[in-house]
Amino acid sequence: MLQLPVLQEPVADVNCQRVRFDTMPSGAYRHSRLGVGLQLLYRRHSCNTCFDENAGHRPDGQPGTSGLVLQHLPHQRRESFLYRSDSDFDVSPKASRNSSMTSDLHSDEIIVTPFAQVLHTLRSVHDNVKTLTGADHLPNHKDSAAAPSLATPSSDDEDFSQMADKTLKDLEWCLEQLETIQTHRSVADMASSKFKKLLNMELERMSGSGQGGAASSANQIESYIKSTFLETDDDSAVTPVGKGGSSAAGGSGSGGGSGGDIETGEGRSPRDANGAQATMTKVQVKSTRTPAQLSAIEAGEAQLPPRLGVETPHSEALIQLFETGLDKWGIDIFKVDELSANKPLTSVVYAIFEKRDFFSKFCIHPSTLVSYFSQVEQHYKPDNPYHNAVHAADVTQSTHVLLNAPSIGNVFSDLEILASVFACAIHDVNHPGVTNQFLINTENELAIMYNDMSVLENHHCAVAFKLLQNPGSNIFSQLDDVERRQLRKMVIDMVLATDMSKHMSLLADLKTMVETKKVAGGCLLKLDNYSEKMQIMQNMVHCADLSNPAKPLPLSTQWVTRVMEEFFSQGDREKALGLPVSPMCCRETANVEKSQVSFIDFIVHPLWEAWTELVHPDAEDILNTLEQNRDYYCELSAAKEAEAASKEEAGANKPSS
Ligand SMILES: [Zn+2]
Repeated sequence: MLQLPVLQEPVADVNCQRVRFDTMPSGAYRHSRLGVGLQLLYRRHSCNTCFDENAGHRPDGQPGTSGLVLQHLPHQRRESFLYRSDSDFDVSPKASRNSSMTSDLHSDEIIVTPFAQVLHTLRSVHDNVKTLTGADHLPNHKDSAAAPSLATPSSDDEDFSQMADKTLKDLEWCLEQLETIQTHRSVADMASSKFKKLLNMELERMSGSGQGGAASSANQIESYIKSTFLETDDDSAVTPVGKGGSSAAGGSGSGGGSGGDIETGEGRSPRDANGAQATMTKVQVKSTRTPAQLSAIEAGEAQLPPRLGVETPHSEALIQLFETGLDKWGIDIFKVDELSANKPLTSVVYAIFEKRDFFSKFCIHPSTLVSYFSQVEQHYKPDNPYHNAVHAADVTQSTHVLLNAPSIGNVFSDLEILASVFACAIHDVNHPGVTNQFLINTENELAIMYNDMSVLENHHCAVAFKLLQNPGSNIFSQLDDVERRQLRKMVIDMVLATDMSKHMSLLADLKTMVETKKVAGGCLLKLDNYSEKMQIMQNMVHCADLSNPAKPLPLSTQWVTRVMEEFFSQGDREKALGLPVSPMCCRETANVEKSQVSFIDFIVHPLWEAWTELVHPDAEDILNTLEQNRDYYCELSAAKEAEAASKEEAGANKPSS
C-alpha cells in the first residue's frame, strides 16, 4: 500500500563519513548539524501550523492532500491503536507524524513508525531546501528561477551559498545514515555496525602489514579479536570449528568442555561430557551447616560470623588493607586472596556490604551472606588460572569503585547498586576455563541446554540463583516480591552482558549515549527508564570485567600471565582432542605482548575512553594507567622483536664467517 519515495542505494562506506569529519573542524561539524536540526524542527512546526490554517494547502500553493487528511479524514476509517494520537504517549512524535504526511503520500498512506517518519520527513525537507535555496544550480543560486520566494541575504552571498551547500550536505549525510539502517534493527545499531566495520578495517590493515612471523601473529590476533568480541550475525559466515568463542583477558564469555559438569565432569573430555546429565539438576550444594545452625540463621538468631566473613589468621592485616584500599582503584587483590585464606570473594563482598550498609538496608543477616557466598566461592574453580574467585572479587571491587564516582553518585538506587555488586560477584561462577565456542564446538551439555546462546553467562546466572535456594542461603529473603523480581532481572541482564561477543553493541550504546548528551549540550545524565539505566550498568560491569589492563602494572601483568595460561591450557585440550587450536591458545605461537597491545587498542581502550567521557573527570586516572600499560607492552614487544631480529641476523651471519 505505502509507496515510499525511491531511496538511494544504501551507502556503506565508512570512509565517506570520516572524510566529512576530517574536512570540517572537529566539533564544529556536529554543532552545525545540531543547528540545522533545530532549524528543521522549528520549520516543521511552522509548516504544520501552516497546513492546518490553510486547510491543506502547501506553502508552495500546490494542493496539499496531507494537510487535508488531517483536517478532513480523521474519522473516515477505523484506526488501530497504532494511529492513536502520539501525544498520548509523547509530545514530539505528533509533529513528525503530521509532517510525515507530505505531498507525495496519499491519505491512506499515513506512516506511524518513528523511524520511517523521520526518514520521510528528512527527505521532504531535503527536497524543499534544495528548491528554496536553488541549490540545484549552486554556486549560482542567485540566477536560479527556483529560488524566487526566498530572500537572499544581500550582505554576503558567498556565505549564503556556502551555508546552503553545507546544509544540503548535512542533510544528505543524515539521509545516508538513516537509509543504511536495516529496518529490523534498532537505531543504536547504526553505531555498532559502523564500529564493527571500522574495527574490521583496522584489523585487516594490521594483519596485512607484517611479514613472516609478524604476519602470522597478527593474523592470530585478528582471528582472536574477531571471534571473541564481534558477535557472529546471521548474515556472516558461521565461525569455523576451533575458532575461539568469547572471553578474552578478563572475559567471562567462555565455555568449557566439561562446563556442564558441575560436580562430576572434571577431567572428562568434552565429547564424553555430552552424556552428562542435565546440568541444573546437579546444582545442589551440600550445606556445610548443621540443621540447628540453619534454623538459627533462618530465625535471625545466628551468631555473627568472623570479621569480614572469613576465618583467617591475618584478619587484622586484611581489615587494614580494606580500610585503605577497598574504595581505591587497584587494591592488591592478590594480597586480599592471601590474607583472606583464599576467600577473596566472600571477604570483598562482606566488606562492601558493610561499607554500603546493605546488611541493615536489606535486612540481610551476616551469617546468611557468608553462607551464600562461601558456596558461590566454592563454585568458582580454584584450578582455573584466570576465571576463579580472585577474578570475581576483582571485578566486584572494581565495580564498587566505579559506583563511587561522584558523577554517577546519585544515579543508582540502593537496589540497583546491590544488583550490580551481586552480579559482579557471581558473573563467572562455575566457569570451566574454556570458551563458549569450545562448548558449542564440542556439543557440550550446556551448549545444548542454552541453544548456543551466551552459554556460560546463562549458566553463571542459573548456578547463582539456584544456590540462593539452598537452606539458609537466601540473602534476598527480606526483599518484597517486586524488589526481588527487579533485582533478578537486573542481575540477569548484567551477567548476560558479560558475554564478550556483546562488546561492540554495548560500546555502541554507551558511545551513542555519551555523544547524544554532548551534542545536546547537557551536563546532567538523564536516565529515566530501565533500559537506559541498564545500559550504563551493563557497561560498568563490562568495564570492570575488562579492567585488568587498566590496573597498576604489577597487577596488570599478573592478570596477563593468568589469562594466557588459561588460554594455553584450552589450547592443550584442543590439541589432545584433535580439534583446531583456537586463536591465542597455542603456547608455541601466541605473541603475548603484541596481543596485549591490540587487545588494548581495539577493545579495552575504546571502551574505557567512552566510560571516561561518560563520568568525566572521574576516570581520567584509570585511562592514563591503561595508556601507560599499553606503552609498556608496546615497548616490550618492540624490544622482543629487535632481539629476535638480531638473533636471526647473527644466525645468518655465522655460516658465512
Ligand atoms: Zn569475568
